[in-house]
Amino acid sequence: MPINLAAIAKKKKIKYFLISYVDFFGILRSKLVPAQSIKEMQKDGAGFAGFSTYLDMSPADADMVSIPDPSSLIQLPWQPDVAWLAGDLWMNGKLVDASPRVMLRKQIARLTKKNMYLKSGVECEYFLITPQADSIADKNDIADKPCYDQSALMRQYDLIKAICDSMIYLGWGPYQNDHEDANGQFEMNWNFSDCLRTADRHVFFKFMVKTLAEKKGLRATFMPKPFLNKTGNGCHAHLSIWNKQGKNLFSNQKDKLGLSKIAYNFMGGIMYSAEALTAWFNPTINSYKRINAPVTASGATWSPNTITYSGNNRTHMIRVPGPGRFELRLMDGATNPYLLQAGIIAAGLDGIEKKRNPGKPVYVNMYEESHKVKGAKKLPSSLEKSLKHLRNNKVIESAFGKDVVTSYIKLKSKEIKKYNSSMIKKLGFRGTKQSNKSNIITQWEKDNTLDC
Ligand SMILES: [Mg+2]
Repeated sequence: MPINLAAIAKKKKIKYFLISYVDFFGILRSKLVPAQSIKEMQKDGAGFAGFSTYLDMSPADADMVSIPDPSSLIQLPWQPDVAWLAGDLWMNGKLVDASPRVMLRKQIARLTKKNMYLKSGVECEYFLITPQADSIADKNDIADKPCYDQSALMRQYDLIKAICDSMIYLGWGPYQNDHEDANGQFEMNWNFSDCLRTADRHVFFKFMVKTLAEKKGLRATFMPKPFLNKTGNGCHAHLSIWNKQGKNLFSNQKDKLGLSKIAYNFMGGIMYSAEALTAWFNPTINSYKRINAPVTASGATWSPNTITYSGNNRTHMIRVPGPGRFELRLMDGATNPYLLQAGIIAAGLDGIEKKRNPGKPVYVNMYEESHKVKGAKKLPSSLEKSLKHLRNNKVIESAFGKDVVTSYIKLKSKEIKKYNSSMIKKLGFRGTKQSNKSNIITQWEKDNTLDC
């Protein structure tokens, strides 16, 4: 039976709904709709002017509407009279191709045709900082190796508990929370789900962490590299493909790493398109200070430099921690939750269809012995370079359409231009290349990325 939002509002005492969508840059946009109007909005959607957000539309374009997906409903645990809904964008009676949730749904449909679905989990790292962003929030969090530091974790107990309690209430199955490798950095893990649910939860998680941190007088940031000498914020994803009968198609007990042919081909597809996917998975100028970064205060960056895979070894782009799944470690905290999953499916499906071979696993510490690995491709060193790879990648183009890819490149190129002109004004130098070498996190990056 279809879900009736008006009836749910009555039953659960919901007074307002946030009907939302996420634009190309991963920004969550919403309208707050009173429950008395939800019946019409569920059918017709909430209207938005596309030009006002990052979707490559013009002011002359018709209104677009976000039609809420009732199965995505989340009642705000800290504000239960409000419920959040993810929505799909429509314009003139058609789905908007260049909108991230629609892009993901189309890739899911391609998998469904093959009786497959992607199960995934994301590990969203974040920093707790002061509201002015001048330092981390906890002045006592200064250990050289702060990872899993119990005291630093427990000094933020009130907030971590509020977030974890919310996930328990929502039924996400959170199972661990920890202090990560940088001072002021945390990670919280909840159960894997099908990739659309994970993407919706990923969007909501970021909103929830930022909101609850604000309530405690702190600021949470998912910015890829807020502090140059500290480990950046990654967003690793654990991946496996299943069929509707409940079989894990990535699993093969006889293989050394426990992976099937399908899993290796899927991985091969991701490795084949990795340079182009970097434009989606590491979508900000600041992102390139995380990947390819020099060693941090803790002794490692925990981010990849090259397109390689290994067994249970975190220095590679892909890690196989156990049988039947692998972890992609390329993405950072700024990645768009829908493009993350959509990009993985598009590249992975290409790998299955073209039987792409990922080669042999590499068993070296890539942070110290990368010179021993011959022929491994390096990840792009700037957003400009990854956009060039995206422009030339036929896999992504055929999966999403040329117009969609062109729109993304156009918007991101504009962003690079803005950054460059701000650099000329403030510092007298130009370009992302120079600033990568300049060993600073610029004010522009902070202003434009702290709330990503
Ligand atoms: Mg982590």
